Amino acid sequence: MKELQKEIEEFVKERRWIKFHNPKELLLGIIEEVGEFRNIIKWELDQERLEEIIKNNYEEVEDTFGDMLWFIVSLANRCNVDLEIALKKVIERNKKRFPKEKFFKTHTNVYVNR
Ligand SMILES: [Mg+2]
Repeated sequence: MKELQKEIEEFVKERRWIKFHNPKELLLGIIEEVGEFRNIIKWELDQERLEEIIKNNYEEVEDTFGDMLWFIVSLANRCNVDLEIALKKVIERNKKRFPKEKFFKTHTNVYVNR
């Protein structure tokens, strides 16, 4: 992940795009790409059908993931965040917060089970 993060930073620097890459614009870029993914699956509620739509449109889905990650990595670069470290911290935190013995086959939405 570190190498990809550096590669994107080099790409941006080589083109003198840092002035366009302010955090607000990059956040909006993430949202734009999330919307593109949403467009592929919108209004379908059935889980099996959703999986089928994603499978049948794999190239478009893959492309939206690439674009979302591009903006996330670019935003992390502007904020001097090492994504590998950030993600590892979240993984470790979630292992402690949601031990498998306690959360086996159950989600964490406390509002649902009131
Ligand atoms: Mg896109």
